[in-house]
Amino acid sequence: MGVKEKIKSKLGGFEISTKITFGYAACFIALLILINGAMWFGVMTALYRPAKNVILYSMYQIEEMFAELEENYDGFDAADFRGALVAGVVLRVVDENGAMFLDTDPKYPSIEMFEENVLRNPPLFAYDDFEIARIKSGLIYCGKMNYTHEDRTITLYFFRTITSEANLFDELAKLLIALDVLGIIIALFIGHYMSQGILKPIKTMNALAQEIAFEKMNGRIPVGQADDELSELAKTLNKMLDRLQGGIKRQQQFVSDASHELRTPAAVIKGYIEFIERYGTDDKELLMENLRMIYSEVENMQALLENMLFISRTDQNRQKLNKKDLDLDDIVGDVMQKMKVAVTTHEVELIRNDPAKIFGDETAIRQMIRVFLDNAVKYTPEGGKISVSSKVDGGKIFLSISDSGIGIAAENLDKIFDRFFRVSSEDLVHAAGGNGLGLPIAKWIADNHGIKISVASELGKGTTFTLEIEPPFF
Ligand code: ADP
Repeated sequence: MGVKEKIKSKLGGFEISTKITFGYAACFIALLILINGAMWFGVMTALYRPAKNVILYSMYQIEEMFAELEENYDGFDAADFRGALVAGVVLRVVDENGAMFLDTDPKYPSIEMFEENVLRNPPLFAYDDFEIARIKSGLIYCGKMNYTHEDRTITLYFFRTITSEANLFDELAKLLIALDVLGIIIALFIGHYMSQGILKPIKTMNALAQEIAFEKMNGRIPVGQADDELSELAKTLNKMLDRLQGGIKRQQQFVSDASHELRTPAAVIKGYIEFIERYGTDDKELLMENLRMIYSEVENMQALLENMLFISRTDQNRQKLNKKDLDLDDIVGDVMQKMKVAVTTHEVELIRNDPAKIFGDETAIRQMIRVFLDNAVKYTPEGGKISVSSKVDGGKIFLSISDSGIGIAAENLDKIFDRFFRVSSEDLVHAAGGNGLGLPIAKWIADNHGIKISVASELGKGTTFTLEIEPPFF
């Protein structure tokens, strides 16, 4: 396992609030360290550099002086040395025998004392070429320089006290450490309260979400005032709950409607069987009549079950469509031919059948057309007229199925595609063999082929369903 994975698996065990707290604190601390480091570096440089520079500058001036002496040697003059020094720098010049040749400040700690107290580990940032000694509580910087003239060599010691700079720096370092500790504590507190603040709405959401159950789906997560990600999440979850609740309601409705639908044929079949039991089987004609009735009810039941299975497959996205290029005119022609043979009670007419290509599932398209035709027959009294027309106009196909039947009231036009919805009274529908699933199935097929359905109807006069089939189904 890599380091990253290890950290991840370790962090995985913590609560989000802990992660936020420490994450925030870590960022804050890193920033603090960065700022303090920069400050420390800046101050250190600002404090030590001038001290170093005054020594270096004094050395430079004295070197210049020596260069002049080389050309025109007339002996060392102490005043020349003093004149070359920058204020605050103490100079001592010692010859090769150790004799002090010049001392600009005799009260200053001696060279021996300095050398005894030289710091083995000079402070960071101290200039490498110089030495630093701590004498009592004072710090002294010292730069050394040798000068050889003919066979005489002298050593120059440049001293500069840096106690106040070092003290200032120490004080500052202490202050920075104290501020860092305080900063870390504050960062942890702020991180903690911030994470609590952030997570409070999530905790409330969690508590409410736990209360929402299958049988108790009315609860919704409160959407906060702020227009932030959490209120967005609450809205999304609420929409999801709406959809789930809607789905569950529809499912429950479907189960209760389906049971209701199955109760009627079951009761009718039971009635016929009881009749046979009571009156015996002697009267063959009566028996056959009853059996025919039972058969017809079983057929109704079978049709209902088929439709219910279709609907349930569409709900589960399991209804497959095998789309191909089709000749709609061939399908319409064939369906109408069979219709004419099967339906003798009504006048069935194919007014127009333009050649038209569509891309779709042939079985489903036939099933959809049959739903409209069967309804036209069911809801048109005997002797009525059913006419079909398929015409291509403006690049679209308009397939209309018209009947001269009972019509649909305007207030019901938007409900006829609802599952199990039926306008007609129980008796009439039962006689007609409807189960309220034909149009929902037709609509599903239409939707899945990009077909628009429109209805025009007038009570007592008739109904026309028009299917508008658009490209790319050509
Ligand atoms: P059903 O199996 O009951 O016919 P549908 O879903 O096919 O179920 O139709 C729903 C309802 O719409 C029908 O019960 C009927 O009241 C009404 N309806 C459908 N087509 C027609 C039509 N051509 N004329 C009059 N009413 C119709």
